[in-house]
Amino acid sequence: MKILVTNDDGILSEGLWILARELKNIAEVTVVAPDRELSAIGTAVTLRQPLRIQKVRPLVPKVEAYSIDGTPSDSVILALGKLVRDRVDMVVSGINQGSNLGEDVYISGTVSAALQGYLRGFPAIAISAPYENKQSPGIAAGVAAILAKKIGDTSLPTRLFLNVNMPDLPLAEITGVKITRLASESHLNTVEEGNRGRQKYYWLVRQRISETTDSGTDVWAIERGNISITPLYFNRADRPPHHMLNSLCSDILQQLHNR
Ligand code: MN
Repeated sequence: MKILVTNDDGILSEGLWILARELKNIAEVTVVAPDRELSAIGTAVTLRQPLRIQKVRPLVPKVEAYSIDGTPSDSVILALGKLVRDRVDMVVSGINQGSNLGEDVYISGTVSAALQGYLRGFPAIAISAPYENKQSPGIAAGVAAILAKKIGDTSLPTRLFLNVNMPDLPLAEITGVKITRLASESHLNTVEEGNRGRQKYYWLVRQRISETTDSGTDVWAIERGNISITPLYFNRADRPPHHMLNSLCSDILQQLHNR
């Protein structure tokens, strides 16, 4: 199996290499990622200027790595269109530093990078973790490897695009794995105003609304200590059947404990 690994936190981010190291155990890994952090860049694609690719020294041995002076979406488009064409079976984006829950997915560079893989017919996983808990990125990478292995071993009846989030807990305290839907009205967006001399300035402030009672959503699952796996799709034909999602996700927690 061949996996393209990317992110929106940039080629030097810790989570990218935690993910690459873990996936290398089950697949041939190529890393193609932006040369700097571009979180919340959404689906932005660079069409009005040329892009440069630089081969970089990998932080994990035996991984081919490239940085792009463009966006997360650019990285995947370039990788699949040129760099590693015919050498990819799956796209995995992460481990993002910070959750991507509910309406986050519409501005997330992490999810958007995976989206470009999905749009080109590849199984795609976006995976995010809160880094407050030191174990979270490592557990997330384990989840990515378990999912990738299962997806690789299965012939999927549909295209697959998963948004995975970790609770802010050590492994022993994670309660389960839930297949969820995106929470709506998940965030409060406000504008704060300030003054610097006569010049006014503005901060866009974004806060997640916790304490959701909307059961079955990603926010709901995370708040109850679960790993959340949200299938994303753009038409009904691409909606993964529930039994398939169940078989992908059923024993993840057990496998994590057995590692
Ligand atoms: Mn990010």
